[in-house]
Amino acid sequence: SPRFSYEWNTPMYTGKTTFNTGIFIDGKFRHGSDGKTIELVMSSSNGKFITSVAEATSKDVDDAVVAAQKAFDTVWGLNAPGSVRSEHLWNLAKKMEEHQEELAALEALDNGKTYSWALKADVAAAIQCIKYYAGWADKITGKTIETSEQKFAYTRHEPIGVVGQIIPWNFPILMWAWKIAPALATGNTVVLKPSEFTPLTAIRMCSLLQEAGIPDGVINLVTGYGHTVGAAMSSHMKIDKVAFTGSTLVGRTVMESAAKSNLKNVTLELGGKSANIIFDDADLDQAVNWAAHGIFWNHGQACCAGSRIFVQSGIYDEFLKRFSARAAAINVGDPFGKETDQGPQVSQNQYDRIMGYIKSGREEGAKVHFGGERHGKEGYFISPTIFTETKPEMKIVKEEIFGPVGVVIKFESEKDVIEQANNTEYGLAAAVFTQNLNRAIDTAHKLKAGTAWINCINQLHAQIPFGGFKQSGIGRELGEYALQNYTEVKAVHVNLGHKM
Ligand code: NAD
Repeated sequence: SPRFSYEWNTPMYTGKTTFNTGIFIDGKFRHGSDGKTIELVMSSSNGKFITSVAEATSKDVDDAVVAAQKAFDTVWGLNAPGSVRSEHLWNLAKKMEEHQEELAALEALDNGKTYSWALKADVAAAIQCIKYYAGWADKITGKTIETSEQKFAYTRHEPIGVVGQIIPWNFPILMWAWKIAPALATGNTVVLKPSEFTPLTAIRMCSLLQEAGIPDGVINLVTGYGHTVGAAMSSHMKIDKVAFTGSTLVGRTVMESAAKSNLKNVTLELGGKSANIIFDDADLDQAVNWAAHGIFWNHGQACCAGSRIFVQSGIYDEFLKRFSARAAAINVGDPFGKETDQGPQVSQNQYDRIMGYIKSGREEGAKVHFGGERHGKEGYFISPTIFTETKPEMKIVKEEIFGPVGVVIKFESEKDVIEQANNTEYGLAAAVFTQNLNRAIDTAHKLKAGTAWINCINQLHAQIPFGGFKQSGIGRELGEYALQNYTEVKAVHVNLGHKM
């Protein structure tokens, strides 16, 4: 199978990498069954070729499932005690630490995000997540339930079996970690499909898995397209569970395929259009800084991005002034530049989609208060963009743009803003800024979202559950809650003397 070698000599990172870019099944790299490849291109320079990686097929998915089942039945699942699984996850985290700069550089190359953020946020949080679930692996316990003196039952939280995991391109290694860590901690084996746009870190991790001593077949990687490999996974009769992160549109088809095949267990982490509510009494400088982080972090390519910014009328003008100044200070450019805050969007497709939304905002009569343009002449760069004078029915207010484009909406009363904030089919996250504790908590409780941030936004921690209400998803990732996604509860009844 193909190999990839690359050398970085950039202001932020000097180093090199060499690895196999095949699919990875039962501990071995190989070509896809029909020998095809996927070409990866650089988002910072209009399609410059990076490398090609093997393209998996549905036949490869079948092979990966066989390998995962074999590992489950022999070296993992009920055959590897929690303490052993914990040790493996710790070793994996250590391996990642040794390679953190390389992983961050691959992420910047493949996705276009800045190297500095990839290192301090994506890779660091991925390692943290693995360590967190290493801690859980030997603490997964059931309950004892008594019904009478003659009878009691206990529950076991058993692994589900072979799980299929499908992840997006916006946080490739972080989503990889969010998926594999709780699955392995609870004893499942994995068939994982990264996004066809950003498979490099997931592929690189395959050899690091081996170096960390994770047994063959515990994690199998099938790099390929959604409509082929992703679809084969969601409809597979021998995959017992599918965990999907991506768009609501595709999430719906994954659930449909699961229902039509073997009714496999499904968890979905989908899109969002999160509200960020800023009251008159907020610490304005802090609110401005957080709001900018809310919408412009990762170039707006975050499912929880605070893309609808509601500002109370008393501070609206001043907020807008400072917020625009903050947007103007964002340095857009080379992901490996020392001063860069924002790199390119991930692909031509996403670039076109976002520019399409900006156009539609203009056409529907909203005002471009800041930005609204391509940045530079090549690469998929878009200036941080702020719209004002919007109406609730406009596409830019209703739909997930997934780019550095926010709408700022003036509001008067608490009641009115909560109604507007909840007026969306999504329910992933929301934020509120105020110095009034009662108002902060009251608003947080009234927002229909899986996460409510008070005086901060886009904060994710391995310990804290994350996931959506409404059409933003089903189930929770992270924290103790994610363990439920990967275990089946068995009740064992014990009769101590009750006679028939
Ligand atoms: P996407 O839905 O296009 O793709 C996600 C994954 O699904 C990719 O691996 C893709 O190849 C695969 N896929 C595509 N078609 C498929 C099919 N028919 N069957 C099975 N799999 C298929 O999403 P994307 O563009 O990669 O990512 C952006 C979306 O992901 C946004 O909507 C964003 O909000 C969401 N997202 C959500 C979270 C969360 O935790 N809620 C996190 C990150 C991203």
